[in-house]
Amino acid sequence: MTDTRDNTTDHDFSTRAIHAGQEFDPTTGAVVPPIYLSSTFVQDGIGGFRGGYEYARGGNPTRDSLQTLLASLEGGTHAFSFASGLAAEDALLRAILKPGDHVLMGNDVYGGTHRLVNRMHVPWGVELSTAEMSNPDAARAAIRPGKTRVLWLETPSNPLMKITDIAALVAIGHEAGAIVVVDNTFASPYLQQPLSFGADVVVHSTTKYLGGHSDVLGGAVVTSDEEIAEKVGFLQFGAGAVSSPMEAWLTVRGIKTLAVRMDRHSENAQAIAEAVQPHPAVETVFYPGLESHPGHEIAAKQMRSFGGMLSVALRGGPAAAKKFAEGTSVFQLAESLGGVESLISYPSEMTHASVKGTELAVPENVVRLSVGIEGIDDLLADVTGALDRLA
Ligand SMILES: *Cc1c(COP(=O)(O)O)cnc(C)c1O
Repeated sequence: MTDTRDNTTDHDFSTRAIHAGQEFDPTTGAVVPPIYLSSTFVQDGIGGFRGGYEYARGGNPTRDSLQTLLASLEGGTHAFSFASGLAAEDALLRAILKPGDHVLMGNDVYGGTHRLVNRMHVPWGVELSTAEMSNPDAARAAIRPGKTRVLWLETPSNPLMKITDIAALVAIGHEAGAIVVVDNTFASPYLQQPLSFGADVVVHSTTKYLGGHSDVLGGAVVTSDEEIAEKVGFLQFGAGAVSSPMEAWLTVRGIKTLAVRMDRHSENAQAIAEAVQPHPAVETVFYPGLESHPGHEIAAKQMRSFGGMLSVALRGGPAAAKKFAEGTSVFQLAESLGGVESLISYPSEMTHASVKGTELAVPENVVRLSVGIEGIDDLLADVTGALDRLA
């Protein structure tokens, strides 16, 4: 198995985001490595592979360049790129679980993650339960030592932006013998690097901030654990839910601007959170950058800044929430997040429809904003205008 570590590890994050795994093409000097749209590779005699490439499900240079980049940014030794975030999660879970194992998840993880385990792995004999991970005592009470194989965290969480103390939960997980997995999609590695707090594995939907332009679907698993890497690498090859060269290349292209984008996402979201908090139509703003947020101090400790996602609970209940979600114009009504363009959504009937009626259900007066990197005056006018019209 190739070690996907790169040779720029002593460089700053922003430098690595542009250069890790991105050496110029040695034959032509092309500054941007080409997209290798090739499913198979010529052998110099049987078994004589050039650069180790044989068949593209097993390895493709464009996918490798993305994997090297992701491993570098998360501070891991191995990264594996998949066709979607859920394909990455599924490969990881099948690699490390066996019938009889227990999975403990945050009670507000991404709905699709809960659905994946609940509807696909549970019928194969895995047990699933959830706990409030922003409260370490609740997590400690819910974990089953020797039985819980996976402790699955997501911070900030979706859509209520709850903050989990990664280091504290890693200690609880490891004490019980569990593998600690962090879904780092909302923060991105620029804002938070869970492996540095002791987590065993990071997963991503690269569809979101890493791709960053709402034009590509993808997922990743990053780890420094050799045994887990070996198993995930085998499943990537053996089950084949790989990212295509084109999508891997687009994701690399997006990542080059991750640092500057995240700075602006955080700045814009902070300004919107502060502006809407005192608005009479607003009951609560969920944004970890506000000092009133219960997870503010922990977020400040483990994140570089607070990110571009925020949610708002409306005093006027579900009707006001729907009207607000349909009442903006720069913020477009759509699922997903993390792109340069601002999006607004109504979780209980959109992203979280699959968990309606479960313990993961979202309050019906909550609207979620993925704050883009447009001009802040336009964003503020759009959001406050839509709130004013609720009166
Ligand atoms: C979108 C998302 C996923 C799933 O990723 P896909 O690329 O849509 O498969 C997982 N976790 C989080 C936090 C997400 O936002």
